[in-house]
Amino acid sequence: MKADLHLHTTFSDGRFSPAELVEAASLVGLGAIAITDHDETAAVEAARAVVAERGLRLEILMGVEINTVWQDAEVHVLGYFVDPRAPGWREAMQRQQGERLRRMTRYVAALEAEGAPVTLAAVQEQAGGGSLGRPHLARALVEAGHASSEQTAFERFLTPGAPTYVPREGLSPFEAIALIRAAGGVSSLAHPKSVPLSGPTSDEDSQSLIERLVEAGLDALEVVHPSQPPMLRDYYAGMAGYYGLLSTGGSDDHGPRYGRPARIGSEAVDYAWVEAMRNRRKAVPGFGSLDRKLL
Ligand code: AMP
Ligand code: FE
Ligand code: FE
Ligand code: ZN
Repeated sequence: MKADLHLHTTFSDGRFSPAELVEAASLVGLGAIAITDHDETAAVEAARAVVAERGLRLEILMGVEINTVWQDAEVHVLGYFVDPRAPGWREAMQRQQGERLRRMTRYVAALEAEGAPVTLAAVQEQAGGGSLGRPHLARALVEAGHASSEQTAFERFLTPGAPTYVPREGLSPFEAIALIRAAGGVSSLAHPKSVPLSGPTSDEDSQSLIERLVEAGLDALEVVHPSQPPMLRDYYAGMAGYYGLLSTGGSDDHGPRYGRPARIGSEAVDYAWVEAMRNRRKAVPGFGSLDRKLL
């Protein structure tokens, strides 16, 4: 049985609703999926309702991708099996959402000054009430006629180096790891290739960051990710082994976008990896003090 452990829905910047994601997962023959929206967990419940209603055999794992800041860079931390009712969880996610709104407001002002006005309302409409992100702004910029494609909008306005770029603020990866653990979850460093200076030839900074994240309680590395070719997967699997971490993996599907098809299921891991994550949770004292039935 195969599991895809990194998926986004319309509750953040994915294109599939939870129901569409469930349908796609069934179509490609997955046995389990983890929904990992950015700073948001509500799609999990919606997907489980669809599975129950249709009598499908698809396991929906609780997941989240927390967008954190380390120095000037972004570090994404995945959390699995968290209990959103744990003390402090909802407040932390609300702060992350508040920061997303603040960042978007600054983007709107910067774009206005640059002669590419869009309204906050137009961006929020693209997000449909979900976790606000730059992909929604990219779509609003295309709709307003300021860019010919979302990709162009990103390059001209939204990426580091662009005159209108607005950096993220918010949780550090250390705080995210602690938060996930406090909510009874297992943490994984998302697409470690994207951690600055990462790689087998120039890894001083990323390796020392990873080492400190391990000391802070990191549980896993995302070994399998579409951005990581086989050589890097071997490299991160070796690193996971060295530090006593688990491996996770998934397609990071956002549905069809930028003229490319959806990639759900294109990267899947053996269900045994999920079992190992569950076991790690059980093995660590303090885990599971919360109700497990929902996880
Ligand atoms: P945000 O959460 O607002 O920082 O938006 C991050 C999301 O934007 C990522 O999850 C990707 O889906 C998307 N993204 C980031 N960089 C790019 C890029 N250069 N081109 C297209 N999409 C991107
Ligand atoms: Fe995304
Ligand atoms: Fe990510
Ligand atoms: Zn992601």
